[in-house]
Amino acid sequence: MRCPFCAHDDSQVKDSRPTEDNTAIRRRRQCEGCGARFTTFERVQLREITVVKSDEAREPFDRAKIEQSVALACRKRGIAQERLDQLVSGVQRQIETLGETEVASRAIGEMVMEGLHRLDAVAYIRFASVYRDFTEAKDFEEFASSVRDAVKH
Ligand SMILES: [Zn+2]
Repeated sequence: MRCPFCAHDDSQVKDSRPTEDNTAIRRRRQCEGCGARFTTFERVQLREITVVKSDEAREPFDRAKIEQSVALACRKRGIAQERLDQLVSGVQRQIETLGETEVASRAIGEMVMEGLHRLDAVAYIRFASVYRDFTEAKDFEEFASSVRDAVKH
């Protein structure tokens, strides 16, 4: 596996174990060139799924993109990595269960929002503000206060 830091072609597997929900194998690797450590996941790929974006552009489904946006939304919220992995696995299972070869990016965004809503109010608001692309500050204010109300009750 190529090192993402220095592009050296070989890395050594230091540790290999199943994730908590047993849907993947997590391998901790170390670059033989620069010594950097990184993690790879091995997963079952049931079928090729294409994501249709709002401008009709199509791209292959990429779990890493969901992981990145969830990680960004949950930054410094002190949520265990395991729970983020579970959220992303849950979204991926939902997508696979649809049985469609094409899925709208909008539908995926809604699934992620649903998962974040249960996990952390701040992360949910962060994700929604990017995903729903609020154009005016007052849109965001209204949304944020509706979430606060929902959390209070
Ligand atoms: Zn390296």
